[in-house]
Amino acid sequence: MEEGLFRMIAILVLAGISMAFTASRTASYRRALAEPVGTETCVACGESDMLESHPDAWTCTSCGYEQGPGWDRMRRERHIERLASMSPEEARAHALRLVGDARLSLRSALPALDRPIVWEGDHRNRHPELTSEILEAGQNLTRGFEAIREAASVDPEVGAALRESGIQTGSVPDFSLLYDVETAELGANTLRPHLAAVVDQLASASRTLGIEV
Ligand SMILES: [Zn+2]
Repeated sequence: MEEGLFRMIAILVLAGISMAFTASRTASYRRALAEPVGTETCVACGESDMLESHPDAWTCTSCGYEQGPGWDRMRRERHIERLASMSPEEARAHALRLVGDARLSLRSALPALDRPIVWEGDHRNRHPELTSEILEAGQNLTRGFEAIREAASVDPEVGAALRESGIQTGSVPDFSLLYDVETAELGANTLRPHLAAVVDQLASASRTLGIEV
């Protein structure tokens, strides 16, 4: 089932939805590049004294604001170091907590898939808009699948239990269809049955692992 989810998304993208994607990607690049990330100007206070704390990561000397793509990379690296320093017992407890979190995140995303867009405006100017719930659902889905991947990588037994339940633990699916008003309905309809299956599989894995649900 889970494999089907990945395949469906791949097929949808290959089927030509990439055309709609280009527009949204351009918009997001424009937003990202509008900020002077990587320059010496602070986007928070406008002061120009930015210190490079790490590669591609700057700190404002006036207000302390951190900007630049390097911060995300560094936070990820620190997180990985924290995980690596855990004892096996700590890693197990962390992995079990993540499985519980993943189940909550994925389950909470399900209702929003029933109504990803709303129609706004009057008769002449009616247009679809993404609901705030679907945007939140997209974040919860990403968070949930990231939790699954992390749980599987910090504790091999937890990873094995997840995979035995049918859950793919190796990668986080791309949910960008949900963030585009043109593709949100199609993406939500495609995702819904697969996601419901993953929620059931997580419940089954949780029972195997003795997680209170
Ligand atoms: Zn500043």
